[in-house]
Amino acid sequence: MKIGLEVHVALPTRTKLFCSDPAYENLEEVNSNVCPVCLGLPGAKPVLNKKALEISAGIANALNCSINKKTWFIRKVYFYPDLPKGYQITQLDGSIGLNGYVEISGKHIRIRRVQIEEDPAKIIREKDYSLIDFNRSGIPLNEIVTEPDIEAIDELRDFMEELRSILYYQGVDINQELKTDLNISLSENRVEVKNVTGVNNLLNAAKYEIKRQESLLNEGKEIKRETRTYNADSGETLSLREKETEEEYGFIFEPDLTFYSTKEIPLSEAIIPGKKAREIALRNGYSEKTIKELTYFDRKNLDILSGLKSDEFKKGVSLIEKFASFNITDYTKEDFYRMIASEFNQLDKQAFKSVMAGNPQVNEADRQEIKQFVKDMLVDDPALLSRIKEDGKIMNFLVGKIKKKYNLSANESADLIKEVIKSPSVN
Ligand SMILES: [Zn+2]
Repeated sequence: MKIGLEVHVALPTRTKLFCSDPAYENLEEVNSNVCPVCLGLPGAKPVLNKKALEISAGIANALNCSINKKTWFIRKVYFYPDLPKGYQITQLDGSIGLNGYVEISGKHIRIRRVQIEEDPAKIIREKDYSLIDFNRSGIPLNEIVTEPDIEAIDELRDFMEELRSILYYQGVDINQELKTDLNISLSENRVEVKNVTGVNNLLNAAKYEIKRQESLLNEGKEIKRETRTYNADSGETLSLREKETEEEYGFIFEPDLTFYSTKEIPLSEAIIPGKKAREIALRNGYSEKTIKELTYFDRKNLDILSGLKSDEFKKGVSLIEKFASFNITDYTKEDFYRMIASEFNQLDKQAFKSVMAGNPQVNEADRQEIKQFVKDMLVDDPALLSRIKEDGKIMNFLVGKIKKKYNLSANESADLIKEVIKSPSVN
């Protein structure tokens, strides 16, 4: 079995690839981020967004590609309503990145090229008519084309995980669902499943297609070379058309654009998350899987864990897990270092947050003392208990008193009072 992919990813630029319209889909107002260039009006001239070039070079670099010294664009000529100018501006031989690889568990999945291209407009299908929204037209994409090196579903899953993480570290929004063309062949004839959105759909489409092709082969039938589509509701792939070959597109050089030198683009050493996680795990005698889970889509965690000394490491990991268990995602490095100096394992969520906010940690001895203080008050004034229950203001008064005396947060103070009230010896 051979699987190859063409993964499309939107680049994190402020403006579109060839004009200055905002590069995001304005879902509230259709056809609002448009101009003659991205509407494809005759005579409108594209101007390349240099930022898209830089980001693409960074991605290509992180995918171990060699960066083309000169990069250029071509027109992929075909007719479809989402592309009214009659061609898509894309790259082929002049692609920004060529001949790279992504490493998954020691195996290289080769990257044939990373090309820059424009997103077409969006077709909105209604019952008996279709509408076109051009907000998406011209949003900068990278198409990442692999060689057919993936040989199992597990490899496909690992590859997508690693790729998404690499893209995350290049500033790509990980919440966007990647659109992928899946090429899959169990015989000499390749079947392409077009436009699969998201990783789960991709895995399901691949599983379905493997089964379908296997059973055809088992029946002694031939697998047709064709293009199929994936229906996420039924979980099936369906035939669209016999596969077109590349020669059927009229590829021509894009004369409205020029050659672009990539020599001046500053490239630093890219973060390869798989490699980093492995290094951290090895150095600290930890499981690679745990470190991957904590760092693949969280740069702050990667920075923290890379910087921790071995003797602090275990505590650091359990602190990050503690943040996760309390659903605290917006912690800073400073929060981390403040918490690691505390006895965070003994804290409930409220106390944890209080210490994180800079309040001193209340230890067990202090808690007992505060509880005793509340108990004493109740003994001195037996009517106080019923008054607390009737009147919220009395509770607030007590909270204020404890807060001040013991330098506690309001929530913590209230919790301690409630604990005392609930205890049978008081009632
Ligand atoms: Zn525009």
